[in-house]
This record gives sequence, C-alpha cells and structure tokens, in this order.
Amino acid sequence: MGLVHSVESCGTVDGPGIRFILFLSGCSLRCRYCHNPDASYKRCGTERSAEDVLEEISRYRDFLVNAGGGVTISGGDPLFQPEFTRAILRGCKAMGLHTCLDTSGHLGCNADEEILSLTDLVLLDIKAWNPEQYRLVTAQPLQPTLDFAERLAALGKPVWLRYVLVPGLTDQLDDIEALARYASGLGNIQRVDVLPFHQMGRYKWQNLGLDYTLADTEPPEPELTDRVRTIFRVNGFADRTY
Ligand code: SF4
Repeated sequence: MGLVHSVESCGTVDGPGIRFILFLSGCSLRCRYCHNPDASYKRCGTERSAEDVLEEISRYRDFLVNAGGGVTISGGDPLFQPEFTRAILRGCKAMGLHTCLDTSGHLGCNADEEILSLTDLVLLDIKAWNPEQYRLVTAQPLQPTLDFAERLAALGKPVWLRYVLVPGLTDQLDDIEALARYASGLGNIQRVDVLPFHQMGRYKWQNLGLDYTLADTEPPEPELTDRVRTIFRVNGFADRTY
C-alpha cells in the first residue's frame, strides 16, 4: 500500500511527451517554496494498493505510448515510499511504459538497483549549490543529493536537472555558475530546466497553518531568469520555458 496525494492524467511538464503523474505523499525536505506542502509536510493522501494504481494507469497506456510519454512518479518525493515506488515502476515497465522519477535526491540511498534499472529518466531537483544555502532552503544537507547525482552519472542514467530560481534565496549567480559547471562535468545531464519561483502554493501553506517565509517574495524578473538560463546554456545545456 502507498499513500497517494493525487494523480494527473495528462501532465506535460514532468518528463517527455504526455505523462500520467502520480504524486506520492511524504518528503524528507522542507523547502521554503514547496508548492505541495500538503504532500510534503503532512502525510495526507489516500491509501491505495499498487494494483489499484496500476489498473488506473493501464487505462491510459495506449494513449501515453502514442503520445511519446509515460508515467512520472512525483510528490512529495517518490523515494519517501521506495517499496510502493518500486511496485509502480515494475508494473509500468511490464506495460511497456517510459518511467520518470521526480526527486530531490536527498533520499537517493532508498533507490536500490532495481528502482534505478526500472527508471528511464530522473528529474533531479538541486535546490542550491552552496551547502549553507541548501540548508537554508530545505533544512537538510546538500551532500546526499550530490552523492545521488554522482551515482546516476556513474550508471549513465539520463537526468534532467531542475533549478527553482527564487529572488533573494537561490539567485546567487556565482553559485549557479558553479552548479552549471558541476552538472556539465557529470556527463549524463540531458537538459536543465530553470523554474521561476511562483506563489501558486501560498494558499496551501496558509490553509495548513504553516509559517510561509516567502509570502512577500516576488517571482524573478524575466531578465534574471534569462541570465540564469544563459549560464546553463553556455555550459552546454538546453532548457525550456513553462
Ligand atoms: S523536495 Fe519538493 S515536495 Fe519536498 S519539500 Fe521540496 S519542493 Fe516540496
């Protein structure tokens, strides 16, 4: 059984093609900008069996294959519930579906060989490059994420790196430059998506009665977002805007 926060049957931004996205509850990080604090802070959701979820996915199987898509397991963090994630990945591969794991990598040690072999693509969020800044953003250390990134690189596992750009929090250009060089050196990062901070999760923080420290933070100016994308671009990465 797994705790499922929600599903989305036609996602277009979390992996290639059109995706069935399974949002699982639970996360080890406490990101200040989390847009799903109900999934990460409170372990809310619905208990469902892997068979039940896979039966739902199977209804979309042909559509997803024809749309060049597949299934993305997101959250929260899918590695917070590794047994359930493994069962879903197994079932998806048995259906011939492309699979993505959307993770911060902080719980990369929960991804055993089978989970990684069943995963076609990892969407890896690196929240900050400077360890102090990472802790400020997430309340956790950076190193487990880097260990996971390097393990994926050693395996040659395709990765899309994601970076959330928050004015005043993750906009230090020197650090971003260092992250871009690091990512370039890994050799398995296929693309980098710079995601401008937004306030779409604010109401969830308020509804949960949580202290939302970014209430007065504006989204980045387009010029800043362009500058950051350019840093990654000159280090060899494409990106996309959404
Ligand atoms: S890793 Fe994702 S789900 Fe977890 S707290 Fe951060 S933004 Fe939220």
